[in-house]
Amino acid sequence: MKREIAIFWYRRDLRLQDNRGLQHALQSGLQVLPIFIFDENILQRLDDKQDRRVDFIHQVLQNIKKDLISNGSDLLVLHGKPEDVWAKLFEEYDIKSIFCNHDYEKYGIERDNMIEALAIKNNVTFKTFKDQCIFEKTEILSGGGTPYTVFSPYARKWKETLSKEHLTNYDVMSLSEYFLKVSNSEMISLKQMGFEKTDMNFEEPLVNQDIIQKYKDQRDFPAIAGTTRLSIHLRFGTLSIRQLVKAAQTGHESWLNELIWRDFYFNILANFPQINEGKSFKSQYDKIKWRNNEEEFEKWCTGNTGFPIIDAGMRELNNTGFMHNRVRMIVASFLCKDLLIDWKWGEQYFAQKLNDFDFSANNGGWQWASGSGCDAAPYFRVFNPDSQTLKFDKELKYIKKWVPELNSLTYMPMLDHKMARDRALRVYKEGLN
Ligand code: FAD
Repeated sequence: MKREIAIFWYRRDLRLQDNRGLQHALQSGLQVLPIFIFDENILQRLDDKQDRRVDFIHQVLQNIKKDLISNGSDLLVLHGKPEDVWAKLFEEYDIKSIFCNHDYEKYGIERDNMIEALAIKNNVTFKTFKDQCIFEKTEILSGGGTPYTVFSPYARKWKETLSKEHLTNYDVMSLSEYFLKVSNSEMISLKQMGFEKTDMNFEEPLVNQDIIQKYKDQRDFPAIAGTTRLSIHLRFGTLSIRQLVKAAQTGHESWLNELIWRDFYFNILANFPQINEGKSFKSQYDKIKWRNNEEEFEKWCTGNTGFPIIDAGMRELNNTGFMHNRVRMIVASFLCKDLLIDWKWGEQYFAQKLNDFDFSANNGGWQWASGSGCDAAPYFRVFNPDSQTLKFDKELKYIKKWVPELNSLTYMPMLDHKMARDRALRVYKEGLN
């Protein structure tokens, strides 16, 4: 007879410490087999086969697997469409329960509904938990019982509501005896999935106290290592948000606010269905007549606009998969306003390139820049690339790193910013009336 087990399904919570769903699985009284599925539906949408995110996940899984093997257990790493993979697992094992953590994106919700239905058909319970944010769905509502659409009152309520219990450490390793004892399975290679190694090197994340101490004063300068660069770890759950909030609570208010922005955008995604449908938060912005010039878009994507701060940002993104937040705001404003290209084109490009790509934060950032979002920059606020440079990269240190041809005579702006600003104001006004 096969042994009854529970399965913990890893998705964007790739850690063995402080993992809520995993702890619940280990406390269930059943032996737990952790699994991860490289989802073909997601992988086949990635055109670049040297995708740093796939490489990152692969490296992290190898580490988790190693730790579990040294504990006499294993991490099963599978590849395929989730419904097919699960159908096989139901045949192979006597599964009593599936545990995982909540996913809030459209595809993730549909996938989980489908697997839950399959589980029920097989007499298996499917239990999911909040893990990737502090407050989810309708946990933070205004006095009138509606979701917040403006950040400041949301953040105030968030802070008032926060208690010790929200920062519980869901310890896993003290329950390590409940991992299923199995012999090692082979780890699928990147190549077997049609991917290649990249320059990505996974390092154990560290909260740098020095950075969060000086965050308020240094966060806006792209030439300084003034932000934590932890976004990829929050994206894939190699760090627990609860641990970060604890670190932020020791007097690092402005950094804490950034972590709350992340929850805020999860809140927007969960409560406003138009976001998951690719629409503007404010529907009247869907009427703007974008120019959508493909050649100009190409110049923006490749960092060849002739505006140094824009080109530096886009080249940083293309070369590293990261872009500093201040520069993300400047390049996004330039695309929507100066070039009058639909923010959804930019959103999509960032989704392909950003190592920390997260649907809710990315959509929030783009809708903020285009003016169409909740609590967005007003449409008539058009960043001036030169004055932004003067404020945030005065010595051109960041720019010179990415735009060595800066002083060449052939390096020329693709358009006149003043003309583009006036045009944007006119087109926005016409669209919104
Ligand atoms: P820090 O400044 O050290 O902040 C700590 C953490 O707080 C970040 O790691 C991140 O998880 C969170 N955070 C910070 N700022 C924001 C914000 N404005 N919104 C939501 N969360 C925030 N962030 C993503 O994680 N994924 C994205 O796909 C993404 N796309 C963006 C697109 C645009 C157009 C803009 C303007 C911003 C976007 N951001 C996105 C937010 C922000 O730029 C990044 O989170 C930040 O640059 C990551 O660097 P860091 O880890 O050093 O952040």
